[in-house]
Amino acid sequence: MTATLTATSERVLTLNDVIAKYSHIPRLLILRIDAQIRGIHYTDQALSAVDPAIHQIYSRARHGIKEDESKQYPASLLLRDGSLIIASHTPLEKNPYLVDLVDGRLALVDNDEIIEFVELWEKPAYYELYTSSGIPMKDVVSARPQRLDLSSSTYCHFGAKHKGCKFCAIYPPDRKTVAARIKPQDITETIRAAISEPGRFSFIHITGGTKLGGKELLDAELEHYIETLQAIGENFSTKKFPCDVTTTAFSEKQLHRLYDETGIMAYTTDMEVLDEEKFNWICPGKSETIGYREWKKRLITAVGIFGRGYVGTGIVAGVELAKPFGFTSEDEALRSTLAEAEDLAANGVTTWGTVWKVLPGAEFRDQKGPSLEYCVRLAEGLYQLRVKYDLKVDFNDYRRCGNHPDADLSRLLK
Ligand code: SF4
Repeated sequence: MTATLTATSERVLTLNDVIAKYSHIPRLLILRIDAQIRGIHYTDQALSAVDPAIHQIYSRARHGIKEDESKQYPASLLLRDGSLIIASHTPLEKNPYLVDLVDGRLALVDNDEIIEFVELWEKPAYYELYTSSGIPMKDVVSARPQRLDLSSSTYCHFGAKHKGCKFCAIYPPDRKTVAARIKPQDITETIRAAISEPGRFSFIHITGGTKLGGKELLDAELEHYIETLQAIGENFSTKKFPCDVTTTAFSEKQLHRLYDETGIMAYTTDMEVLDEEKFNWICPGKSETIGYREWKKRLITAVGIFGRGYVGTGIVAGVELAKPFGFTSEDEALRSTLAEAEDLAANGVTTWGTVWKVLPGAEFRDQKGPSLEYCVRLAEGLYQLRVKYDLKVDFNDYRRCGNHPDADLSRLLK
């Protein structure tokens, strides 16, 4: 691929440039980051290799992306080292990698060059089953290769009030429908069926949009998580089970309830952007209701309840460079973000990044995404902080999640 020039004539490094410059970082990890930034586009030949009887598919539009509803797109891809590419089907004009059929195998292709062969995710057995109330289990709990995912809510109060995070398209403000709340019995039955498949799942993750209501701010959200977690817990004989949640930042009292009344082992609440000024601009709902400093304080409070290394925060890697109020220099963005991540790490909170993908349904839909080199440097910096402060990431690593390049490094580097 040819290197391009930015408006300031700064040379943007290509995939091969970055692989050569950061030779201590695994090539497949760098490729994965690039595929997340650029997205992937399935050719019709590639889609002909998708067998819904075997493979996991998405059949609905996601994140505001207009997919051809007559086609069945795969959930996502696996690389040969077992890591995941969680990337969206992206229109050709956005310069995505192609996923094409080459000699009967699926491959990532760029400029007619085969970059890597890839595989599809296999569908778990419970995807064919129904709960006793007649709901397809795949609509209750979705699957990654080794993790079960529950969405506690398909609605976000911030998005509904036009105060959503500007990179987010999961809960766009113009969303007209809200899915019916799944009943606890359906959750219990689905988790039971899923974990009965030998050797497949090792972790359960729950997240959802913000719910501000209740006696205390966020009590409605807390109650929903407790109800869902107790339904899951019906399947375990131990008090704690391998599960974490990503919620809005709960108060100390709410965190104690979450820990005491459920079986979760780890807690996450996403700050998204590690800079107060940029956070206020990019996440107006979070900023106005809780605020940057209080959010950070609540994370540190959670360490006293869940333990060092069992509290994390997610950031959207690169969104701090968005225009017009983001950082104007990658070096400055990196320095500032890692300084804040270090302050959190020193207090027992681990930070991981999800590569910012510019989504058509988001307010930031017309932005330019981060450079590959920036995302690689940030992933390495976050990984090094985890080493320095001896923080584990085993509840959110390549097996459990697979969507954080920095967490992937934890199994590969010393
Ligand atoms: S809190 Fe922000 S990132 Fe999360 S669902 Fe709402 S708008 Fe999206």
